[in-house]
Amino acid sequence: MHFYFFGHLLLNLSLMQVLLWNSTFVQNGIIPAYSDILKSPIEYLKGVGPQRADLLKKELNIFTFNDLLNHFPHRHVDKTRVSFITDIDSSTDYIQVAGSLHNIGIIGMKRGRRMVATLRDKTGTLELAWFQGLSWIQKTLQPGEQYLVFGKVTFFQGHPQIVHPEIELLTADKKDGKSFLEPIYPTTEKLRAKALGGRQIGKLTEVMMKQIAEKDLPENLPDEILNKLKLINRYKAYCQIHFPANMQEYDEALQRLKFEELFLAQLRLARLRSQRHRFSHGVKFEKVGELFNAFYTKHLPFELTGAQKRVIKEIRKDTATGKQMNRLLQGDVGSGKTIVALLTMLIAADNSYQSCLMAPTEVLAHQHYKNITNLLIDMPVEVGVLTGSTKTAERKIIQKKLDDGSMNILIGTHAIIEKDVRFKNLGIAIVDEQHKFGVAQRALLWEKNEMPPHILVMTATPIPRTLAMTAYGDLDYSVIDELPPGRQPITTVHRYEKDRPGVMGFLKDEIAKGRQVYIIFPLIEESDKMDYENLMKGYENVKAWFPEPKYWISMVHGRQKTDQKNSNMQRFVSGDTHIMVSTTVIEVGVDVPNASVMVVESAEKFGLSQLHQLRGRVGRGADKSYCILLTGPGIGNDARERMKIMVSTNNGFIIAEKDLDMRGPGDIEGTRQSGVLNFKLASIVQDRSLLEMARRFAEHIMETDPELSSAENLRLKSYLQAIQGKTAWSRIS
Ligand code: ADP
Ligand code: MG
Repeated sequence: MHFYFFGHLLLNLSLMQVLLWNSTFVQNGIIPAYSDILKSPIEYLKGVGPQRADLLKKELNIFTFNDLLNHFPHRHVDKTRVSFITDIDSSTDYIQVAGSLHNIGIIGMKRGRRMVATLRDKTGTLELAWFQGLSWIQKTLQPGEQYLVFGKVTFFQGHPQIVHPEIELLTADKKDGKSFLEPIYPTTEKLRAKALGGRQIGKLTEVMMKQIAEKDLPENLPDEILNKLKLINRYKAYCQIHFPANMQEYDEALQRLKFEELFLAQLRLARLRSQRHRFSHGVKFEKVGELFNAFYTKHLPFELTGAQKRVIKEIRKDTATGKQMNRLLQGDVGSGKTIVALLTMLIAADNSYQSCLMAPTEVLAHQHYKNITNLLIDMPVEVGVLTGSTKTAERKIIQKKLDDGSMNILIGTHAIIEKDVRFKNLGIAIVDEQHKFGVAQRALLWEKNEMPPHILVMTATPIPRTLAMTAYGDLDYSVIDELPPGRQPITTVHRYEKDRPGVMGFLKDEIAKGRQVYIIFPLIEESDKMDYENLMKGYENVKAWFPEPKYWISMVHGRQKTDQKNSNMQRFVSGDTHIMVSTTVIEVGVDVPNASVMVVESAEKFGLSQLHQLRGRVGRGADKSYCILLTGPGIGNDARERMKIMVSTNNGFIIAEKDLDMRGPGDIEGTRQSGVLNFKLASIVQDRSLLEMARRFAEHIMETDPELSSAENLRLKSYLQAIQGKTAWSRIS
């Protein structure tokens, strides 16, 4: 679920490299494109002062002029026109009118007590009303004077009125309304209490903008990009995002600033990649040797798919360069990542390097061990397995073989990366379904060898392209986008509670044919009592439908001891039980080819990617497989949509895209903590095409001018130096 963590680590480590690189820019003595006025502390702005400054810092993280400049309005109000009072009709929402003020007075009692006034222009009259701050308002308003009034029109006893209008003396410069749309800013209750509401922040911004000149916000994008994409210049964009004359100007500004945001992020990621490719040092796998070839020709039980071959070539090429490989391998469940891992480890062994393969659970580690030792039977490759429950005596033997280099491959859980496990010469570390590993654990990987080992991260959680481009943009990236041949698509259906008898009957038929069945219950939090009770109830219910001794059931859940979990799982794996009742613990990769039916109870409680992962547990053998999504009758629209998507496709990438569409990047599992995706203006969902464009331009620049030394890219370079360490995604540590 947290596949992101690993990306974090890689990003952080490579960030260090880029910071070093940046400092070489600085030595070149290029003047930062960051003007002093933007660095001014916010308390220096007229109208702020120490007290409000403190609040702006605490509440909105606004410390400098530049921070305020980048605090963007979330909407605009149109006060560019002054309307006539007769224009008001029942469809009028907000309106701005001007006229003279009359009949100011307090009327009503108790809660109805209010101050009223009449505004009169040459076309009619409008009532204004105040329920709060009466005495203060009464003092400030002058009868007979001309006022400009703005607010939301409501009707009281058939007459239009504005309650708590914005009101100010009408001066010559305001006569025709504002020359720009008025910005409204995000703010907080505490700021509001100090007269810094959404509008008032705009007053500050207005004052500040008067002090900022075009030279203070110099262009940072190359002309070629500006011209090709018809983007307005940077200074203009900042003016127009705050104070646009009309919506078109606002849109122009938004487009420009969104592009800049995406482009700079893509450029940095492209630089990290390019940087690593050019300057990192890594273990060199010189050749493909005896072991790989013998295995490939004599032991490989099937023909590799085209995608598997391509990925192995990519890895082969990377590891032969003498640069460190940092590769993310994505492949849908069942696409055959394990064999790719094995072939990669054989290349390492051919070059006298050790390798390790880490799985998130003991069950999975043992399954990998069993599979791989089976595949390698009669081959001179020493494989070991190490988990948290490996006995001390066994550990000692393994450690000895790791020390003298006789152990080629170590498979295990995170126990592998504990400090006391040492390798003679670790060449590559492969992390399978890596999302369960924590950051700190992974940092230890790098210390396992003098030269940092190559890293291959394999994930079965499909990531939409745009997300991968941003979240993993600094990694090299391979995809297995093809399933092994002969796989029958899994038939997925959505059934309601009332259909349960039919579903259970179907399960009995499948079991009678010799198949096995998963029944999954939601467990959102391992500690959630309700979910746990539901699971127990569900288990009793399953037992009632499938009584012993005709049927045998295994149950696995997070509250069981590891031993118990393993033995229950093992009984199902070996075919001793017909049904596996479980929470999502089986989500991560057990392979039971004979299990051909997946029932998901309360399927509405699961997200799309989770459902897809669960479904991936079946369809691994030769038999026709089924996924049955059971829900209650009254599920919401979103849940119904999820069921529909699941029924309509088996393709994890399509599902991932839909997931992103439905939930937005902030909610995609594992990306919540990222920071990489926290763009101020851009959205990787809505601005996909802009993101693709940003990516292309960034890559082009890295290919043609990686040091940004051409005249065209100079402004980009000086800008990047000036802001180094200041963008959202450089702060993610
Ligand atoms: P995952 O990518 O989910 O880890 P696995 O590596 O567990 O997938 O592979 C799933 C199943 O497909 C395994 O039983 C494996 O032996 C089989 N398999 C992998 N590659 C091929 C292939 N090219 N042809 C046929 N079967 C394959
Ligand atoms: Mg796997």
